[in-house]
Order: sequence, then C-alpha cells, then structure tokens
Amino acid sequence: MSLSAKSILICAMLAVMALSVSAIAQSPATAPNTQPVSAAQPHADSYQLSGVQLHHAIAITRVRHILTIVGILWSLLTLWLFLALGFAAKLERYCQGRFHLSFFQGAFYFIFFFLIMTALDLPLSLYGHHVEQHFGVSVQTWSSWFGDFTISLALELIFGTLLLLLFNWIVRRSPRRYWFWSWLIIAPLIVFGTVVSPYVEQLYDKVEPLNQHHAALSTKLDPLVARTGTDIPDSRRYIALVSDKSTGYNAYVTGLGATKRMVIWDTAAAHMPDDEILFMMGHESGHYVLHHLPKQIVIDIFITLIAVFLTAKLGERLHARYAAKWQLGEYSSRAGFTVLFLALSIVSQFLSPAMNAVSRHYEHEADIYGQEAIHSLVLNPQQTAIRAFNDLGAAWLEDPNPNLFFDIWFGNHPSTTDRANFAAHYDPWANGGHGQFFDK
Ligand SMILES: [Zn+2]
Repeated sequence: MSLSAKSILICAMLAVMALSVSAIAQSPATAPNTQPVSAAQPHADSYQLSGVQLHHAIAITRVRHILTIVGILWSLLTLWLFLALGFAAKLERYCQGRFHLSFFQGAFYFIFFFLIMTALDLPLSLYGHHVEQHFGVSVQTWSSWFGDFTISLALELIFGTLLLLLFNWIVRRSPRRYWFWSWLIIAPLIVFGTVVSPYVEQLYDKVEPLNQHHAALSTKLDPLVARTGTDIPDSRRYIALVSDKSTGYNAYVTGLGATKRMVIWDTAAAHMPDDEILFMMGHESGHYVLHHLPKQIVIDIFITLIAVFLTAKLGERLHARYAAKWQLGEYSSRAGFTVLFLALSIVSQFLSPAMNAVSRHYEHEADIYGQEAIHSLVLNPQQTAIRAFNDLGAAWLEDPNPNLFFDIWFGNHPSTTDRANFAAHYDPWANGGHGQFFDK
C-alpha cells in the first residue's frame, strides 16, 4: 500500500469518527432507558417509537453503523500496517533472540500480537461503550466494563495462543493440506464451544434461580413449558443479573440433557409484562424444540471449511506477493503465518452475510413458533407479540426504519420492524385454520 493510500484511509477514519461524535452531540444525555412502551400503545399494529426515544434510536443506530464499518476498516488497516511496516518480522526476531525454546518463541509472539491488536482496537471499544452509556442502553460502570474486558482478553490470550501454536505447527508439518487438518480441529471445537458457552457467560454475569426472584413468573411459565414439551422444571429456570450493566431485554434456552435450562435477564423480568415474557420464552423454546442449535453447528462447520480454504488460498497469495517486501520469511514462520489473519479478516467479511442469512431464517421460524406457542395461553397472541417487539426494540433503541444494507450484511435477526409486521399479519387460526407447529 502506498503512503497516500494509507493517509486516505486514516483521514476517512477520522472523518467518520468526527461524524459519530457530531451524531452524539446532537442528542442530549438520557436517563436510563427502562420504560416499556407497550403500555403507551394499547393497540399497536407495528413497531413504533416516538418523541425523544425515536430521536435517540435514529442517532444511536447511525453511530453503531459507523462504528461497525470503521471497526472493519481499522482492523484491516492495523493488520496490514503490522505486516507491511515490518513489525511482524521485528517481533519474530525479538522473540527468537529472547527465548531458547521454539514453544516460548511462538507463544510470546502470539501473546504480543494479541496484545498489540487489542491495544489498537481499544479506542473503538471504549468509544462504543461510551455511546451505549450516553444513550442509556448500557448502565455499566467503567470499572465493571474493564473487568469484563480483562476476562475476555485473558481467555483470548490463553486459548487463542494455544490454538495458534497448534495451527502454526500444522502449517509447518503439512504445507499443502494444513487448512484441511486445521478444519478437522476447529469442527469439534465449534461443538465444544456451544456446550461450554453457558458456563463462559457465567464468568461475566451472575445467574440465580428464577423462583428466588420472581416465583409467580416461574409459575406462569408452567403452561408454556408443558405446551412446548421442553420439560424444563422450575428448578432449571434461572435469572441472569445484568441490570447493573444493561437496560436491554433478553432471554435464552441453553444447555443439553441435565444442563438444559431457560434463562431470563432480570431487566426483562422486572419491566416486561408477563404475557410478553411468555412470548419471548415461546420464541426461545422454539429454538430448542426445532433443534436450531445442532443445525446451526452443522452449518457453521460447513461454512468454516469454506472459510479456512479461502483464507489459506488468499494467505498463500499474499505471502507469495509480499513476503520479501515485508521481510516475513517462510510461510510457516510466525511472521509469515500472520498473513493468514489478514486473509481471514477479508474472507470473513464476505462470509458473514451468508451466516447471518441462516441465522435470520431460524429467528423467523422461532418467531412463528413463539406466537403459536402462546396461542390459548394469552388473550391475543398477535397483539402480545407486537407489544413484545415494541418493548424489545425500545429497550435496545432499534431504529423503526432499518437500513437494508446493514440488515442483510450484519443482521443476525430480522429487523424489529419486520418481526412486528410479520406478527401483525400472522393468524393461522383465522377461518378455522391451524398453525405450523400447533394444531390449536
Ligand atoms: Zn432467537
């Protein structure tokens, strides 16, 4: 990359940062965002916000979009500069001179690499948290935020370094088929990651039995659990204590076999009406009953195969073209291996729309399931679903007029507007019909 190209990229970045700052400056700081809007709209037929809430939703969405694009460009630029300015080669030489054993040379190379990349990414992360705080979606203090940040960094340093040492070793042992052997290791790790994710979440947020906090709500979930056949008794319903961090609402069904359980955020339990919580848990039960998790794992493993193949091919081309110029040495050296990060960053940008399309499909199916699951449990399933989407959208400050490009490229859920519009028109029981998943 020529110097002028680098300057243009940096100027573009500064310009978008300035844009986002001005977007914030236009909106006064808000009180925490805790009021459900459903009460204000006794009969809604779509997702709507008004007044200050609408103004803030539009402003924060603009900043979130800018940060998404800037984040991608920034990570590509920093990786490129790390390689092109010779830092990768210098770091490898430093580690070789400092440590005798090859294992430690590699481990410290990757640890330093992670630390440098994290430090370069930190300003955007700090700014992102500042924006969510400013608009009241996040109420997490900076010390708590840094606590979570430290946990993530520690996990990345420990597991990331070990994995990269392994992959780097595979490249040395099998210079032609390394991408395939790496994929054979990644595939079971995707399954393992899904199984342990509930435990990882507990490193960040405390989880306690639901009946200790909301016994009446847990009782109200009984008919839903019976109707959906998820077989999750009172003792396996939990509440996640997140209200000191977020004003958003969330819930999920997770675990396998004996660890199977449903979890609801305390923010949702405190502020959402019970019938809307039933709908939300109906949606989550849908993910479980329709086996979305195992299906997603299979698809993720397949997409990962494509990703590692394309990353390897692009990495080899980048290395062939720039290795001498960037003094990277062999492809299997640590500095040479680092081009694979740049390749992966480029490849994943183009694969994420495909993965998000799959995710949106499952979310839509879970919405249908959720609305059918509460039929006969609430007075008006359509109204309940629409009001739930209004409360969810307001809590997260979702713009009621979503941007089509961002929805398709980055959206792992359909937009709140699309979900509410679907709910308004979905009534399979009209004229004596029946649902896709429930007869009545
Ligand atoms: Zn879902």
